[in-house]
Amino acid sequence: MSISQAIEKVEAHYAHQPEFIQAVKEVAITIQPLYDAHPEYETLKIFERLTEPDRIFTFRINWENDKGEIQVNRGWRVQFSNALGPYKGGLRFHPTVNQSVLKFLGFEQIFKNALTGLPIGGGKGGSDFDPKGKSDSEIRRFCYAFMRELYPYVSKDMDVPAGDIGVGGREVSYMYAMYKNLTRESGGVLTGKGVGFGGSLMRTEATGYGAVYFLESMLEAQNDSIEGKRVLVSGAGNVSLHAAEKANMLGAVVLSVSDSQGTLYDTKGFSQDKIDWLKAQKEQGKPLAEYVEIFGGEWHAKQKPWFIKADIAIPSATQNEVTEDDAKLMVENGIKYIVEGANMPLTADAIDYVREHRVHYAPGKAANAGGVAVSAIEMSQNSVRQYKTFEEVDAQLKTIMKNIHDSAAAASECYGQTDNGYIDYMAGANIVGFKRVADALVAYGILN
Ligand code: GLU
Repeated sequence: MSISQAIEKVEAHYAHQPEFIQAVKEVAITIQPLYDAHPEYETLKIFERLTEPDRIFTFRINWENDKGEIQVNRGWRVQFSNALGPYKGGLRFHPTVNQSVLKFLGFEQIFKNALTGLPIGGGKGGSDFDPKGKSDSEIRRFCYAFMRELYPYVSKDMDVPAGDIGVGGREVSYMYAMYKNLTRESGGVLTGKGVGFGGSLMRTEATGYGAVYFLESMLEAQNDSIEGKRVLVSGAGNVSLHAAEKANMLGAVVLSVSDSQGTLYDTKGFSQDKIDWLKAQKEQGKPLAEYVEIFGGEWHAKQKPWFIKADIAIPSATQNEVTEDDAKLMVENGIKYIVEGANMPLTADAIDYVREHRVHYAPGKAANAGGVAVSAIEMSQNSVRQYKTFEEVDAQLKTIMKNIHDSAAAASECYGQTDNGYIDYMAGANIVGFKRVADALVAYGILN
């Protein structure tokens, strides 16, 4: 079955899952040259097989709020592909979570995880639970209840969840506690655990830092450097603030962060003390806008950061945050590099627009793979029951991000997608990730 026939099937079956269709098409439109070179992929229907998860678990979560009222939420775990290792991918708690969103994230995760070069398959899960405004006790009760439902489907060598939007160290710890309580196992079934009880140093920083390491390689490939570059970051979560932190550490000037309420613009750039303040503020769930009373700068209510003139954009909030109009604004405002800190932050039209305008564009599955890479390093530390230092993990992360960059650039070149120095990272990353998974499936025959 050809790729286009497989897409038609996905569209017919899953017309009600737009994010999933979008993610599938983004891979499909770039891997045809690889398919042409490997007729066995078509014979074995590799693409069609990879568009259907191995299985999806759906469950109900009952929990009690602080008023003693029963609350009901839905939960899922999508086990997409374990061709390369245990299913691996985060849990997202957000009211927008549904099967389409989790299937898009799980599908992306297969190729992202393959790109790391580490032995991890792809999965994703979560709930439509909204953590916003919930007390710590409510979060704890929800996490316990969620894991009570999830635990039969996960284990350290079979499926290893982690965090994502709405799930950080606190939530992972509550879920890990329930898992241990139910199974008496201490193998490390979740990653992103607290340092001191199985977590890896640098896991918190890894996604944001990794995205900036990837950016450094992109700049180097164009004989340029990060020093003095003006950077726009969207979002103010874990990925955004650590991307801002690393970019600032390496000499860039980070001009913005944002949240659902608006954009914070500081023409002087976010120095480390400002970033520390932002981290503390977000951790307490307080408004970003209060920044201007302390440090100055501008608060732009209900605006995204793309109206600001800059060199580099690191969209790190959520899927489809950058529309075609935003992409036009970015190009008008001088953006030359886009590095996706979030998963699929650019719409399909936005991607087309920036690629047509030769903006160097790093897709999330390559640029934000640092988080899951350090998760895999956490798994290996749990297995050998020994810990690495911050410096060791950081060095390993740098090497992994450089390898992802270099292999994507090499595939772009090899499959004729590099044009006059413009590297097609989207094509390159999809080709490398897809090929690794496809070759494993070919070797396995028709299982998996
Ligand atoms: N949620 C993260 C991602 O999108 C991390 C997943 C993990 O560490 O398993 O890659």
